[in-house]
Amino acid sequence: MIAEIIAVGSELLTPFRQDTNSLYLTEQLNRLGVQVGFKTIVGDDRRHIVQAAKVALARTDILIFIGGLGPTEDDLTRESVAETLGLQLRRDPEILQSIERRFAEHGWKMSANNVKQADVLAGATPLPNANGTAPGQWISGRSDGKEKIIVLLPGPPHELKALFESAVLERLHAKVPKQFIATRVLKITGMGESACDARVAPIYKRFTNVNTTILAGPGDIQLHLHTQAASIEAAQKAVDTLADEIENELGDFVYSDNGDPLEQIVSYYLQMRNATLSVAESCTGGLVAERLTSISGSSRYFVGGAVVYSNDLKIRFADVPEDLLEVYGAVSEPVAKALAEGIRKRCGTTLGIGVTGVAGPTGGSAEKPVGLVFHALAGESGTEVIKRNFTGDRSRIRWYASQQALDMVRRKLM
Ligand code: ATP
Ligand code: MG
Repeated sequence: MIAEIIAVGSELLTPFRQDTNSLYLTEQLNRLGVQVGFKTIVGDDRRHIVQAAKVALARTDILIFIGGLGPTEDDLTRESVAETLGLQLRRDPEILQSIERRFAEHGWKMSANNVKQADVLAGATPLPNANGTAPGQWISGRSDGKEKIIVLLPGPPHELKALFESAVLERLHAKVPKQFIATRVLKITGMGESACDARVAPIYKRFTNVNTTILAGPGDIQLHLHTQAASIEAAQKAVDTLADEIENELGDFVYSDNGDPLEQIVSYYLQMRNATLSVAESCTGGLVAERLTSISGSSRYFVGGAVVYSNDLKIRFADVPEDLLEVYGAVSEPVAKALAEGIRKRCGTTLGIGVTGVAGPTGGSAEKPVGLVFHALAGESGTEVIKRNFTGDRSRIRWYASQQALDMVRRKLM
């Protein structure tokens, strides 16, 4: 079965509001084994809503409308769906009463336009909305010999979620053929998206029953594997087999096979090796420490460190020799190395991280362009430095740098 979500609301066609409800609904539908084939966003315009509804009805089995159930002039979903399906709207006295009661309970005066929220499509089941006045609606019937399900849900996210869970989920369950879903998330760092895809596409293309999606971020690739089958064992086996093959191909570029973030993996390794860590960060401004401390229990291995943005503090807090800064400049391999070694010694940790670079967009030069970052990891056996030229804006470059620094710890302890 294929679903389509139609989010109604002119605000969703502006740069200021995003349709987030459909993300929630997609997750819920996927869990039931239903794929979302299309999403449409349409403004508060009856003609446009009817057009969108007709197109959707012709191509999907389950059609979910979001929003436009309120009392105001621009709430047009009920009327538009009635027109599309050629159905009458009838005013439901019980719903009207409950709306009146809701107003009375809050001591509010009900304005006349609220009555239209009691309008129900002929043949539809009203779905009580515990958190708002407008009920949802459920209607199923046959069109072109196929069963179609149409659901109307309110726009405010907390109303939509509560209503979906209390009234829609169970009804969908009864209609949808029983399917079991299995998912796996592989996370990869240290290679680009196209390089990664070139290596894994030949593998996942063979698995026609598993849906593979690539999500790329700075220094981070996620492979989402998703399948459905008639038994949970079959579904799980399909994603696990594919995950194993991909892991074999990519080797240690895969840092997580269960969705864990890199800082969590680093946490596991540091604890497994009984190691401690400190950081001296320049261009990342504390991002590495922020990510490390986002993991509960990080005090067991992360002692702290310093944000050493100025040369003065690089000298005073991380014992970087002044002449290194003079001769090579703050963004250089020797200074990154000195930062890592200095902070490690100062903090008495097993490992020390040093990061220095040009995050941009200003401050770059021909010799040291924006995106140039040196990452150093000092340990008992010596110090390793990795030089990278990242691209992108300031926040992307800083994220890349934090990712590289954390990955050096992972690879060292692996
Ligand atoms: P109300 O009775 O509150 O008017 P409604 O069903 O008519 O409910 P809308 O008027 O379309 O819903 O939307 C109400 C609010 O809900 C919007 O201002 C917006 O904040 C939120 N909203 C609507 N649609 C979405 C969506 N698709 N994703 C996220 N938020 C939404
Ligand atoms: Mg509204």
